[in-house]
Amino acid sequence: MTTDTLVPYSEAMERYEPVIGLETHVELGTRTKMFCGCVTTFGAEPNSQVCPVCLGLPGSLPVVNRMAIEYTIRIGLAMNCTIAEWCRFARKNYFYPDMPKNFQISQYDEPLCTDGWLDVGVNGRTVRVGIERVHLEEDTGKSLHVGGATGRIHGAEYSLVDYNRAGIPLVEIVTKPIPGTGADAPVAARLYVTELRDLLRSLHVSDVRMEEGSLRCDVNTSLAPRGSAAWGTRTETKNVNSLRSVERAVLFEIERQAAVLDAGGRVKQETRHFHENTGTTTAGRSKEEAQDYRYFPEPDLVPVAPPAEWVEQIRAALPEPPSARRARLRAEWDLSEADMTALSNAGALDLVAETVAAGASPADARKWWLGELARLANEDGTELSRQVIDAVLAGEGDPDEVVKARGLAVVSDESALTKAVDEAIAANPDIAARVREGRVAAVGPLVGAVMKATRGQADAARVRELILRRLS
Ligand SMILES: [Zn+2]
Repeated sequence: MTTDTLVPYSEAMERYEPVIGLETHVELGTRTKMFCGCVTTFGAEPNSQVCPVCLGLPGSLPVVNRMAIEYTIRIGLAMNCTIAEWCRFARKNYFYPDMPKNFQISQYDEPLCTDGWLDVGVNGRTVRVGIERVHLEEDTGKSLHVGGATGRIHGAEYSLVDYNRAGIPLVEIVTKPIPGTGADAPVAARLYVTELRDLLRSLHVSDVRMEEGSLRCDVNTSLAPRGSAAWGTRTETKNVNSLRSVERAVLFEIERQAAVLDAGGRVKQETRHFHENTGTTTAGRSKEEAQDYRYFPEPDLVPVAPPAEWVEQIRAALPEPPSARRARLRAEWDLSEADMTALSNAGALDLVAETVAAGASPADARKWWLGELARLANEDGTELSRQVIDAVLAGEGDPDEVVKARGLAVVSDESALTKAVDEAIAANPDIAARVREGRVAAVGPLVGAVMKATRGQADAARVRELILRRLS
């Protein structure tokens, strides 16, 4: 729930002009971590992919992953950036329980790629999004707060830390401020991330799965009165984890900031959290200034100086950009813009291309695959699949992403369920004790807690069985 006053969107647009900006974090799909040889497989047993370097043990020394540098240059070139001839990593100092070194190796004033752009089609026109920088850093570990109702640290009984993710190469792609999108600002934000995701996928540098956190966005939004030369104060909504949420986060911030400004107030520069279930944002910490991090050049690493010939080799090997490929195929296949968008959103472009290459007519191939995808989705539950197809066609992502983002999957993943069961038991020791004594009928609230934690997506009978087995 939000206590914020809101101004209806269309009304806000009559009086204010939004400027948006996006910072996107992408986990690179390298086999090993950024500064050590630990593997990066997603979903492995906690703390099974760690070593002295990524645990920050004294005396350990980092070594740069060459493939991560190559992937970052590939991204920079595909986004029309200048590649630095010489740059350094920097230490960003802060305390975080999931960052055992108490600093993050990042890049500060010497990023690897700068000053590029990415064209994004928004409601029939092209918006050229300026790219400020593309830099490399390392990801943090993950904390799990156990025993509280919300999964947050407040109210939790204890917390667990998994360092498997600590040290995975992370690329940060920062746009310049994007003015001039007007009422399209929320959609433009979503379409930029969509285009970026498709581009990264075509470059084979990341699996870009938003639902697994390998692509995460911070969304900046500010409002200024129409006609004003100066831009307003921006807020930064952190870790927005689906395409749909990117759009909703901008929309909400516009409605909220408009109300603040209407009342004669000032928008505070701060980070905000987006809440998936309500589509609202709430205030986080007030934004740090760069000097708070006490950046300085990382003394344990040599500078990075990619030879010009290497950069040119990487440039020569870049694939056709997704936007150019879509335009080419659309012309070849003689499809409408809407048909092409639907195919692209459904992730069926490659399927149709292969079918056409095998001799089918483009119109037949398109019709057959869209029908086939709908049929496949229908086989696992008509109610859900309708939602999935609609969301895919609306551009919320491919079917997997929609299912995860909207919580439509039945949780059958045993390790996820087991974790939820253990948390429910830890949070309800009295009930667990009664069940242990043999009072099986008392198990209900534990089943309820697991169903709540999995947003009703687990199979209740299976949950009951798991809990009883755990407490036997
Ligand atoms: Zn390691």
